[in-house]
Amino acid sequence: MPRPPANPHIENLRAYVPGEQPQGGGWVKLNTNEHPFPPSPRAAEAIRRLLEGDAARLRLYPSPDAAPLREAAARLHGHPAADIVAGNGSDDLLNLLIRAFAGPGRPVGMLDPSYSLYPVLAGAQGAEVVRAPFPVDGRLDGRALAATGAAVFFLTNPNAPLGHAFGPAEVEAAAAAFSGLLVVDEAYAAFADADCAALPSRLPNVAVTRTLSKSHALAGLRAGYALCPPGVADVLHRVRDSYNLDLLAQHAAAAALDDRGWLDDACRRVRASRARLAEGLGALGWAVRPSQANFVLAAPCRPGEPRSPAASESAFAFLRSRRILVRRFPGHPLTADGLRVSVGAPAEVEAMLAAAADWTAGRG
Ligand SMILES: *Cc1c(COP(=O)(O)O)cnc(C)c1O
Repeated sequence: MPRPPANPHIENLRAYVPGEQPQGGGWVKLNTNEHPFPPSPRAAEAIRRLLEGDAARLRLYPSPDAAPLREAAARLHGHPAADIVAGNGSDDLLNLLIRAFAGPGRPVGMLDPSYSLYPVLAGAQGAEVVRAPFPVDGRLDGRALAATGAAVFFLTNPNAPLGHAFGPAEVEAAAAAFSGLLVVDEAYAAFADADCAALPSRLPNVAVTRTLSKSHALAGLRAGYALCPPGVADVLHRVRDSYNLDLLAQHAAAAALDDRGWLDDACRRVRASRARLAEGLGALGWAVRPSQANFVLAAPCRPGEPRSPAASESAFAFLRSRRILVRRFPGHPLTADGLRVSVGAPAEVEAMLAAAADWTAGRG
């Protein structure tokens, strides 16, 4: 007997395809923008404290609205804790924002290219997706956002996979021209020169989402939060799971956010590694886009040969044969020639550069 039909819009939905997550060791894993260094030791300490003795703390439900995490985020950003919503990763928050603000007749907007999860989340709510082309001059145009007619527009800033960041003044001007909710997805903002965390307290239609996955080396923990303008947190609480973050994640994330020294040091090291990666690939003749995130998009090319999707595919396969994982985005002309390479630890960057040099020279 065939299975019973799902909802029509779910029958036609395709699941998000995450980057490969090999479960064995031995890979130089530069494909999903994880942090190359271990997280703040305070995160593990917080978990150990909760599990002390017989772990009886796990018997009880945690704070329903993840108060420890919201309060730590409030301290970090000087934003009212009541206007912060915690999520099981920031993907959870993107989903809640779409559930609450989009649906049939209320489209989801995004720049093209940007994060390919948004269309999947929109599809699950029966919301149409409207795309504005990534501006060729790198300048954000509020009129282009408004012209999409989106009820909620996701601005990945810095952009993934391009690495380009729009400045807060540009984002503020765009928000003023747009009447829907502008969500600035700041998954990579910790690595950028500036961020938009101050905007939600000034602008009624701007929310900012953050994740601890990239900035705080805690992708395995699943914790993120949204800085909301007045009134929005209340709406998101209506549609979230009543206990959307577990006890360990709430406390570990709070401890990590409170460790500002760790973040400053880790970001400095990631930026230094990013500069070395960009410089090394550029020296091989690869076309490297300037990046404000913890990855670079670079188009491989061999001397005398043009960049092309085929060259990107060839370099990808070559790197994989050397057990180096990077990511390809063949679906858009701005990214089809490129490889997105996460910024690794110094030894990983050197392994990547050595393999890239061999591919470029046609060795191996
Ligand atoms: C990684 C990423 C996220 C989601 O991170 P979580 O692990 O779910 O917190 C959100 N947006 C963008 C653009 C990302 O790259």
